[in-house]
Amino acid sequence: MEREELPSYGEELLVGQRPKYLLVCCADSRVPKGELLTGFKFDPGKVFTISNAGNCYLLNLETFYYGVAHLGVEHIVICGHNDCGMMKAVIKGYDENPCIQKGIDTIINKVFGGSAPEFDPDELAKENVYRQIELMMDDEVVRKAMDGGTLKTVEGWYYDFSGGKPELYIINRNGEKMNQKLDLARLNYK
Ligand SMILES: [Zn+2]
Repeated sequence: MEREELPSYGEELLVGQRPKYLLVCCADSRVPKGELLTGFKFDPGKVFTISNAGNCYLLNLETFYYGVAHLGVEHIVICGHNDCGMMKAVIKGYDENPCIQKGIDTIINKVFGGSAPEFDPDELAKENVYRQIELMMDDEVVRKAMDGGTLKTVEGWYYDFSGGKPELYIINRNGEKMNQKLDLARLNYK
C-alpha cells in the first residue's frame, strides 16, 4: 500500500478523539466494524467501537461508559446480524469453555431476564438488539447523557448478508421498533 493511500490523522486527532458514534457490533469476521458507518472504509476518529461475540454492551460495560460519559458520543448504534454464532450458543445455553459460558449467561440473564425466547437465531439477534436498547434507555449513565443533550439517538441495526451481499436495516430508534432498509452504497454517517 502506498503511503498516500493510508488514512490521514489531522491535527485534532493527534491530541485526542471526539467520535460522534459508538458502535456495538459482533466480533463475527463477516460483519464490518466501525467502517459500517463510514462507507466501508476505516475513517480515523469517527466511530468508537465495542466488538464482542453477540454484540452485547454489557460484556464491555466499562468501554461503553467511557464512550457515553467521557467521550460524549452523539449516537449509539447497536448492530446484530444473521447467522450469529453467539445467538446459536444462547439458544443452546451451554458451552464447555467456562469463559464462553459466562458470556452466554450474561446475555441470557441480563438481556433476556433468565431465559431466551424460543426464537430462531436471526429473530433472536433482533430481539437481542431490542432488549439491549431497552436496557440502555433505562441506564443511568445513558439517561444522563440524553437528558444533558450530548447523546441524541440510540439506534438498533440488523446486518444481513444471507443473500450474499450485505443489507442493512434500522430496526429500532430510541426504543421504537421500525424496519427501514438503508442504502449501503450511499451510507456514510459522517
Ligand atoms: Zn455474531
